[in-house]
Amino acid sequence: MKVVYSARYHIDIGLHVFPTLKYRLVHDSLVARGTVRAEDFIEPQPATWDELALVHTSEYLEKMRTGTMMPDDVAQLELPWSEEMVEGFRLMVGGTIQAARIACGLQDRSLSEARTSEFRVTVHIGGGLHHAFPNHGEGFCPFNDVAVAVRVLQARSIERTAIVDLDVHHGNGTAFIFESDPNVFTFSIHQQHNYPMWKPRSSLDVGLPDGAHDAAYLRELERALPKVMATGPQCVFYLAGADPYEDDQLGGLRLTKDGLRERDRMVIEAVRSASCPLVITLAGGYARRVEDTVAIHVATIEEAMTA
Ligand SMILES: [Zn+2]
Repeated sequence: MKVVYSARYHIDIGLHVFPTLKYRLVHDSLVARGTVRAEDFIEPQPATWDELALVHTSEYLEKMRTGTMMPDDVAQLELPWSEEMVEGFRLMVGGTIQAARIACGLQDRSLSEARTSEFRVTVHIGGGLHHAFPNHGEGFCPFNDVAVAVRVLQARSIERTAIVDLDVHHGNGTAFIFESDPNVFTFSIHQQHNYPMWKPRSSLDVGLPDGAHDAAYLRELERALPKVMATGPQCVFYLAGADPYEDDQLGGLRLTKDGLRERDRMVIEAVRSASCPLVITLAGGYARRVEDTVAIHVATIEEAMTA
């Protein structure tokens, strides 16, 4: 299994609830535990500005590129603008694109065409920036990496994709981007009474009450997964957010680590039994102790390894 990662994801955004250090900590933990061999880590290339333009407007990209964002733009993004920030997230979008290419066999020169009827999982220690819209970034998400990767695959004749978004927050940007694309099935389980206030409609939305806990969550997931796979995706993107966790500072669904691990197993098994490529991105995670966020992400990757 290939794992896409760059040390440059540890982006300096000052004192912040979003620990960009987590990417490095997840990487280091996988190395220390011997879960992933050194030769299986792939360093991504940054997404090109043309690739970003498959989703984002030229006006927005120009503001990001030149640092001419207005104070309101910065407040909505909730990240300080810097060249390092923009380049770090552009690289992270490239990471999701690369993971999608590997999962679909587009990277493999021995294949004459994409392999979209074979289970192959690729993990990206990054990504899941689901709050970014075409014309603005918000909620720590400057660019929508999964949306850009979906558009890149579509340009290579991989039309039908599904997005399983299990971050605690609704995937508002992603839902908006694909609202009128019948080939992209967007699915989100989230805490209903949490950011974002405005939740554009996904293909399938499950909004859970505060404190839903493991059993209710897993029951909803079990009911939904067959509906997702019934759409016949040629590639599935999974946003394995760590923020449904019970000790998360920005989430209130109160899942345990065991519950989250069972969630991961269910998603991976549903995609595996449908013989479909799978791309896993990390998305959010703001536990009081960063070690908990890291342990949850590492558990996801361990589940992917053993699939
Ligand atoms: Zn989140």
